[in-house]
Amino acid sequence: MENKIKVSEAAKKLGLSSRALIRQLSGLGIKVKGYNSFFPEEIFKKIKGDLEEEKDQIKKKEVVKTEVQEEKKEVEKKAVQQKKKKKKRGRREIKLDEKKVEKGVKETLAKMKRKKKKKYKKTSTVEKEEGTIEIDEKKASSDKEKKVKLVPFMNIAELSQKMNVSDNDLIKACLDLGILANRNKRLDKDTIQIIADHFGFSVSWEDDLKILEEEEKEKEGNVQLKSRPPVVVVMGHVDHGKTTLLDYIRRTKVAAKEAGKITQHIGAYRAKIKDFLIVFLDTPGHEAYTSMRVRGAQIADVAILVIAADDGVMPQTVEAFNHAKAANLPIIVAITKVDAKNANPDRVKAQLTEYGIVIEEYGGDTMAVEVSAYTGQGIDDLLDAVQIKSMELDLKAAYKLRARGFVIEAETKHGKGNVATIILQRGVLRKGVPYVCGEFAGKVRDIVDEHGKRLKELTPGMPGMIIGLPGIPEPGETFEEMKTEKKAREIASRRMEMKRERMLFKKKGTTLEEMQAEIEKGKIRELRIIVKGDTFGTAEALAKSLKDSSLEEVTVNVVHFGVGNITKTDVDLAYASGSVIIGFHVNILPEAKSLAEKQGIQIRMYDVIYNAIEDVRFAMLGMLEPEIHKEYIGTVQVRQIFTASKIGKIAGCYVKDGYIERGASAVVKRGEEVLAETEIISLKRFSKDVKKVETGYECGLVLNGFDDFEVGDEIECSIEVEVKKDKREDK
Ligand code: GDP
Repeated sequence: MENKIKVSEAAKKLGLSSRALIRQLSGLGIKVKGYNSFFPEEIFKKIKGDLEEEKDQIKKKEVVKTEVQEEKKEVEKKAVQQKKKKKKRGRREIKLDEKKVEKGVKETLAKMKRKKKKKYKKTSTVEKEEGTIEIDEKKASSDKEKKVKLVPFMNIAELSQKMNVSDNDLIKACLDLGILANRNKRLDKDTIQIIADHFGFSVSWEDDLKILEEEEKEKEGNVQLKSRPPVVVVMGHVDHGKTTLLDYIRRTKVAAKEAGKITQHIGAYRAKIKDFLIVFLDTPGHEAYTSMRVRGAQIADVAILVIAADDGVMPQTVEAFNHAKAANLPIIVAITKVDAKNANPDRVKAQLTEYGIVIEEYGGDTMAVEVSAYTGQGIDDLLDAVQIKSMELDLKAAYKLRARGFVIEAETKHGKGNVATIILQRGVLRKGVPYVCGEFAGKVRDIVDEHGKRLKELTPGMPGMIIGLPGIPEPGETFEEMKTEKKAREIASRRMEMKRERMLFKKKGTTLEEMQAEIEKGKIRELRIIVKGDTFGTAEALAKSLKDSSLEEVTVNVVHFGVGNITKTDVDLAYASGSVIIGFHVNILPEAKSLAEKQGIQIRMYDVIYNAIEDVRFAMLGMLEPEIHKEYIGTVQVRQIFTASKIGKIAGCYVKDGYIERGASAVVKRGEEVLAETEIISLKRFSKDVKKVETGYECGLVLNGFDDFEVGDEIECSIEVEVKKDKREDK
């Protein structure tokens, strides 16, 4: 048997992206579906060989190019000298010399007969006659500064600017690669690489954010730092009083001028003790916080570890502690519910030492405060402790730099559109400023605080809700002020492309049933799922439960989970990644629904988490049962009755509506009265057995167990069809 290798594995070995390898394979006439497909090892060896050869040639090309470059430098030097001497005649001679250089370049290019190059067949440089040498000129001049910093998914216009090659030449190069492009066409990383190679550049890949960061870092040393409020996250075991504590602080510690105003949940709020401001993240729990951190967000400065005095250290207490430690967060212990009957704060303190947390009272350096959110006892002390810790941390931010922060929560709000609460790390954000946030860009329409009050500006550490985003970014995503809206859009659309790229490979729509079939055949070992929930917490919990239901042979890969209704973007993502969408307590937007139908994407809606998990498990176990559903097909009217000795009575009928078929279920009705529910066991036209009879035709039929027909009876027929689960649960 022929040995085969998986695309993803082969790509890894070759140091290519799966997508690039798939493209190479298709160039060799081998069609593979995606990164999980297999192809002959023979071919793998061939590609490997080709690539190595290519590398050698690139090395050679570098040498030749340097030679050409030196030659060109030499020529230029001479030209300048000559120009000085003979102003008039100079030009012609320079031209001649340049032609010499161009010839050199052409020779170089001719030597670079690389595999990829073959696709270029007619590069303007190699094939064009003397005299029409614009590209060569550029190539030669670009050779001077061979290095270029590029970002994947730049468009032709951006590349043109970066490489100083005209749009037209780039478009031509794309055409040679079989890509129809215009100025705005974004190219993937591999294509950009090939094109940059073609124009003689060595590319160093950059990350948009990194570039922005570097720009800001340069300035950082020169700007003054000013203090900012601490951001606090509350963690701990379930039911230990996190929410109640946060509520109590929110209710009682708002700034005097805001007192009495209703606070809205925006993901964070400010508390004020004397003149000191503390910002609390309003979503308790370490899971949500950690998922923000996964995206690199360092939002909080201090963690309050909540432990109930009547319950003590529990598994999630330890987990929360570990998460806080992993995030490098200083911890303040809040021993809650000290008012409770069975409260035993001392036991908690003693328990803590077992986990390596030694509180100050016991000679350690962890502050611990006994509190009750019922009586308010100790709350001021807890806030004092936060203040002390913050002073120690000496929290400062550069207010003068371009604003940058993180999203802590985002959702669609009635009447406001998409909103995202952000906390800035630096800079001051104002209305009207262009920004990029994840793969979304725009201008800040409005900023409001937790009291719904419009803010003129948002300063570091303060939570503010940005109104009117074009989409819902994920918590932990960065929010960056940009110089121009154009630049913001550029970055956003590149990120959107990258996100798509990351979603592995293009594939036609998939259903859970199809995945089940593929799993049964051993074709796939992964169920890809996109989860949308009504809150971040539920979406995350569902995503986690789904992941946890992975089996040894088949894993669940939650490609994405997020908050809000199912949108076109989700469907796009599902299409790109070959995923099924699972919605929990959300709706499907109409345009998303029609797109999903068009692309064959399955959207499954659930109200009960358990059902979603069960279906996914069943799909993995190959137990997903199709639901049978009766579908009406047609009605016949009895016009004549025949008697056959062995069979009994045969109804001579006329098909009034639809069609009927043998084996269909039949409901016999006389007026409104239902006489029988049975099935058609025999169907004839004239004396011939037939399978199906359409409207307007006559037929004779026999029913199973019923023959007491009367002329005028009507028989309604239906058949059983398998209903895919998506249809059944779609709302
Ligand atoms: P969470 O799961 O950590 O957010 O815990 P909750 O804030 O929802 O509280 C869990 C339970 O403990 C609720 O029934 C609260 O009423 C109760 N609880 C919270 N704080 C206190 C407190 O200070 N004293 C007492 N006696 N009960 C409290």
